[in-house]
Amino acid sequence: AVTDVNEFMETILKRLRPIAEKANVEVVFESNRSVSAEIDASRLSLAFSNLVENAIKYNNENGWVRVTLDADHKFFYVKVSDSGMGIPQESLDYIFERFYRVDKSHSREIGGTGLGLAITKSAVVAHRGAIKVQSKLGEGTTFTVRIPLRYIV
Ligand code: ATP
Ligand code: MG
Repeated sequence: AVTDVNEFMETILKRLRPIAEKANVEVVFESNRSVSAEIDASRLSLAFSNLVENAIKYNNENGWVRVTLDADHKFFYVKVSDSGMGIPQESLDYIFERFYRVDKSHSREIGGTGLGLAITKSAVVAHRGAIKVQSKLGEGTTFTVRIPLRYIV
């Protein structure tokens, strides 16, 4: 089915608003174009929710999360950036593995099972998409997801 991706992203962010407010983190959404894509909306909804939820919960009081949507003739791109604690370089290779959590002692104060990013990645890969991460400790993290506009088997 064809999904209006702008509307789709707005719905995800709206659902996470209570969590953001509780954490005192500002979430902004930016998109310059309307994007329609053939996606499994329920599966990708979970994938993007996980990214934004992480961006909120591994953030600081008064921090921000910026979600952007863009597209070209083949793909749409969602970028989730945050002003949070960042991820150590040596952990970046492992964060998509099931049950992996950075800094067990610290992460334990923040609830989670370590499954979110594994679920996100499998949904992205199922769409023949790609996900990458850039991070700087103490400054923040950016996840970039690329999804084909049309699913070609
Ligand atoms: P779950 O998502 O299952 O509730 P989780 O958030 O711990 O638990 P993942 O979403 O898979 O699990 O993330 C794995 C680990 O990567 C997290 O425990 C955290 O250490 C780190 N991480 C993920 N996203 C961020 C982020 N935006 N900023 C800093 N660290 C992050
Ligand atoms: Mg998570």
